[in-house]
Amino acid sequence: MGTTTSINPYNGNEIKTFKTHTKSEISEILEKANKRFFSWRETTFDHRKKLMLAAAAELKKNTREYAEIMTAEIGKPITQSIAEIEKCAWVCEYYAEEAESHMANEIIKTDAKKSYTSYEPMGVVLAVMPWNYPFWQVFRFAAPALMAGNIGVLKHASNVFGSALNIEKVFKRAGFPDNCFTTLLANSDAVENIIENPIVKAVTLTGSGPAGSAIAATAGKNIKKTVLELGGNNALVVLKDCDIDTTVDICVQARFQNTGQSCIAGKRLLIDSQISEAFIEKLLVKVRELKSGDPMDEHTYIGTMAREDLAKELEEQVKNTIKAGGKLEIGGKRQGAYFEPTVVSGVTQKMDMFNQETFGPALSITTFKDIEEAIALSNNSRFGLGVSIFTKDIKAAEEMAYKFDEGAVFINSLVKSDPRLPFGGVKESGYGRELSKHGIREFLNRKTIYIAK
Ligand code: NAP
Repeated sequence: MGTTTSINPYNGNEIKTFKTHTKSEISEILEKANKRFFSWRETTFDHRKKLMLAAAAELKKNTREYAEIMTAEIGKPITQSIAEIEKCAWVCEYYAEEAESHMANEIIKTDAKKSYTSYEPMGVVLAVMPWNYPFWQVFRFAAPALMAGNIGVLKHASNVFGSALNIEKVFKRAGFPDNCFTTLLANSDAVENIIENPIVKAVTLTGSGPAGSAIAATAGKNIKKTVLELGGNNALVVLKDCDIDTTVDICVQARFQNTGQSCIAGKRLLIDSQISEAFIEKLLVKVRELKSGDPMDEHTYIGTMAREDLAKELEEQVKNTIKAGGKLEIGGKRQGAYFEPTVVSGVTQKMDMFNQETFGPALSITTFKDIEEAIALSNNSRFGLGVSIFTKDIKAAEEMAYKFDEGAVFINSLVKSDPRLPFGGVKESGYGRELSKHGIREFLNRKTIYIAK
């Protein structure tokens, strides 16, 4: 039996050492989950709705308890941890209300007396999840999965096992039957075996590209459905007719919230050269105002990054970009897992901060001459999660939305996830969708029912 220790990235203190599950314990958990499926799928939507609303209530009641562990585990500012827990309550309430209509039979007129599509749960679904939104990433999978009659088994990132166990606790406290949602304490090397187990019917991963291709390869070999939510290198496209003050505020939030560790963060600011000077000046004022400090302090906006090795990786990308000719406007220094809010201008397409995903508080700035160049720059990425366009000419922005190779185009807003809207990417950002009716249908069997005349 192995162990995994979680470390507080702010002070380096050990939080807890967890015993990881052995192979046979994992098999046993999967057996129990599978058994539960056959009774869980018989329950009514009303019954599941009551439990899911109880989960939302539990999240609202004990927000602080769940938020504090998250903050300790990844250095996330406490106010942002609290907001994350509240958003999880929202997704539980959304699917409690909407699951039944999302799964309603769809009548299709044919030569039959009656023919339709029936949406049915698949069984045990494995969720492999990242640390950056330890609760949200899991709840946006778990709420639709459980409402649909599926069973969730979570393999969370190894640095957030405390949060992973807390999520299991939320569902237990809400009254869900045992084994409806289970946390496996396992490292990434256990995943292949889990996917190969015939009990597991499908896999969802939110994480990096290498994890995505490893999981998709194993699932592919075993003919199992996958949804992949991978990296992003979103552009913030700032046109010269935008409202500068509002756009500056949104761009700062888009890049620096969650200490920059978000797949949908606006990582590349692309700006019309005619307004770049004035814009950067205002932007730097706002970045300077971002308060770094103890993540448990409610005034802190920039915490530490989740691990020191991740901060070192970001430091390398920033250094390489400056070495290649980028201009450091602010920040750039690292201390342990803390990385200063950083802005680098004059970034070209060959530089690391343009063509790699920067997963921390560092913004790159590139100028363009016209909209065609802006679109080409935005699309020059392996990723395609989302883009933000800032302009007063909303009609023109909406008309050009199709030219962006992205899963989402947000006009005058940062890209954000919302239970009511589909969420997911194209290109190396992955495939499939989470949230909305599209998310719940990913792990359903669309069964054709045909009754002859
Ligand atoms: P990661 O290293 O890929 O880890 C994500 C999860 O996958 C963890 O549970 C990890 O387990 C597991 N894992 C890693 N390598 C694996 C492998 N070869 N086989 C099976 N499982 C494996 O990603 P991360 O560093 O935690 O998260 C950052 C990345 O996630 C970024 O690229 C970010 O953009 C992306 N992300 C995407 C979205 C989205 O919705 N599109 C949202 C958030 C984050 P261990 O912890 O045990 O290694």
